[in-house]
Amino acid sequence: MDKIVCKFGGSSAASAEGIRRIKAILNENPARRYVVLSAPGALEGGPKVTDLLEQVWREGGRGPAAEAVVSRFRDIRAGLGLPPGDEAVRNVLAAAVRISRAHTLSRGEYLCARLFADYTGLTFVDAAPFVCFDTNGGLDVQRSITRLSVLPSMYLRAVVPGFYGSDPSGNIITLPRNGSDITGALLAAAVHATLYENWTDVPGLMTADPSRDPDARLIPVIDYPEMRTFAQNGARVLHPDCLAPVEQAGIPTRLKCTMQPEAAGTLIHI
Ligand code: ASP
Repeated sequence: MDKIVCKFGGSSAASAEGIRRIKAILNENPARRYVVLSAPGALEGGPKVTDLLEQVWREGGRGPAAEAVVSRFRDIRAGLGLPPGDEAVRNVLAAAVRISRAHTLSRGEYLCARLFADYTGLTFVDAAPFVCFDTNGGLDVQRSITRLSVLPSMYLRAVVPGFYGSDPSGNIITLPRNGSDITGALLAAAVHATLYENWTDVPGLMTADPSRDPDARLIPVIDYPEMRTFAQNGARVLHPDCLAPVEQAGIPTRLKCTMQPEAAGTLIHI
């Protein structure tokens, strides 16, 4: 039976409407069993939640940036008919700044995945014990895949926050920016997914940046080595470090657009 791991980027999770759309996409195909979420992205030219969290850390947890994060989550929750939860968000931020910068930055994904679990009834599985870093802060790919591979025996479906894990002492460590792509790829490899779907706000891999080049075309099919070249040359649609885990596990990746779920997007094949 098909088993799909879906990762949704911050642009897809930026508003209540976006969260509703993600739920509808999951409901469309029961094989979409594991979901990795980023933190809410930019809204109408404003900052991404992760950028606000950088400010929260600098402000020591109780300033305008913290209130901006509280209000982003309040608006999403209100739009979904969920209770506000302002105090809970404030407490999470206040606790995080007492721990570390990485802990603070990771709370966007944590809170977003918690919210999505509240809204959908999916089980929330924290990434911290499953995505493993070594004592030098380097991602331990093999160990992470081994840890994550127990998930299907525990949960038929789950939502997992992207972008962070923990080191052997339990400290939260973050991946590079846009690193939720890597969390999704590790999870896909670990659960032997038949497909890794990476959902963003663009139609797929384009021959050029469509905002600069009106002749930019969608590339419907590409293989992993070609995709790696695009990613290393600055194509921002996927984090380059997410390619190896899925390629080595023999899993294709499909780039999909949340705004056009019926469109085929780009298939990255083995
Ligand atoms: N939220 C983080 C960022 O803005 C990680 C991610 O979106 O994957 O980079």
